[in-house]
Amino acid sequence: MRPLVDAQRAVLAAVKRLPVMAMGLREARGLTLAEAVTAPHDIPPFPNSAMDGYAVRAADVSDVPVVLNVLEDLPAGTVPRESVGPGTAVKIMTGAPMPDGADAIVPVEATDAGSTTVEIRERADAGDHIRLAGGDVVAGTVVLEPGIRLTAAHLGVLASVGAAWPHVHRRPLVGILSTGDELVPPETMNLERGKIRDSNRISLRHVVEEAGAVAVDFGIAPDDPVVLRRALGHAAQECDLVVTSGGVSMGEYDLVKQVLGELGGVDFWKVAMQPGKPFAFGDLDGTPFFGLPGNPVSVMVSFEQFVRPSIMKLLGSAALFRPRIAGTMTQDVVTNPAKTVFVRVATSNGSNGWEATPSGAQGSNVLSALAAADAFAVVDVGRGVVEAGETVPLEMIRWPESRTAEEALA
Ligand code: AMP
Ligand code: MG
Repeated sequence: MRPLVDAQRAVLAAVKRLPVMAMGLREARGLTLAEAVTAPHDIPPFPNSAMDGYAVRAADVSDVPVVLNVLEDLPAGTVPRESVGPGTAVKIMTGAPMPDGADAIVPVEATDAGSTTVEIRERADAGDHIRLAGGDVVAGTVVLEPGIRLTAAHLGVLASVGAAWPHVHRRPLVGILSTGDELVPPETMNLERGKIRDSNRISLRHVVEEAGAVAVDFGIAPDDPVVLRRALGHAAQECDLVVTSGGVSMGEYDLVKQVLGELGGVDFWKVAMQPGKPFAFGDLDGTPFFGLPGNPVSVMVSFEQFVRPSIMKLLGSAALFRPRIAGTMTQDVVTNPAKTVFVRVATSNGSNGWEATPSGAQGSNVLSALAAADAFAVVDVGRGVVEAGETVPLEMIRWPESRTAEEALA
């Protein structure tokens, strides 16, 4: 059996990040920035009011109340025509440029809100409620570094500096295919005896898309070498990465194994992990191929350990692996000491810190326990038993990646 980290290293060495292209902001969520983006001008671009109120000279409002003449009305988006001299004010809205001569804003709440004259009821100091040019970002500074995966706030920053077509790594296309004569589509109403609904494909679609890639669905392939060969050929041609489930263990009908053996380029591994020991990896005409086991929990665990980090690498992200935090097991857990075991757990964070409780039966077919889990408690090779109260690393499977390959595979 291969140690898990060795298998992960070998997989990641074979996966390369995708080329860079310009991408509109609406399409860029979850993609990785491939360039440093610099602000071409100050943000805000001009000094402006932080409040609805009156632009005044602080010197005029040091003794209150005082009445000033209102020169004009400045909504956001307009430009001042008047400059503020002694005894005068300009009515101003949040975001409108500061008129010349004014050095403070008096909020409307501190006035009688007048239109031709205004009574100022509270004093103001120079600089009050003014947003300076460059107060957020100074012209010429780098606002975002390459390697950042773009979230909503990052995309807002890019919009504010006019970087409407940032250079990012292209979004990966990930082909997914279920294999097995027993599988029927999830919509099937009456299950014939011996058949089961295909659950892996819908789970894979969503984990692929959650990771930031596009899932390309190649459906269900029966255990038929001709059909399988054709489906794998299409998938490899159209996609940047191909994931199948089923057919890679030792059974006589494990045809994925047979067909891939004939095609060449793919190896069959026994990884020292549980669940997910049988695993095929290699390339189909240059496209990375992952043959995951059939059991639904094995699929998700193998996906987390191998496919997801590979998608992150295709995306150009520096962080490839989910975060791990230390937690306490609330129950005794006995595992196979020859393998890295991923115990499906539900976590809680209370006065005792993070605690983890197995979320159900741990069989590799028990999808309900995975659905109830938000972390894997990772029991490393050699440990075997975790007693209640002992500390164990928790891999947080709903948190975004934070660990680089160097950190995770050290
Ligand atoms: P295999 O690796 O093909 O021998 O499959 C192992 C187990 O996983 C068998 O019980 C299969 O019926 C089940 N299985 C395989 N593919 C799927 C799927 N797409 N959805 C749900 N269960 C599956
Ligand atoms: Mg099968």
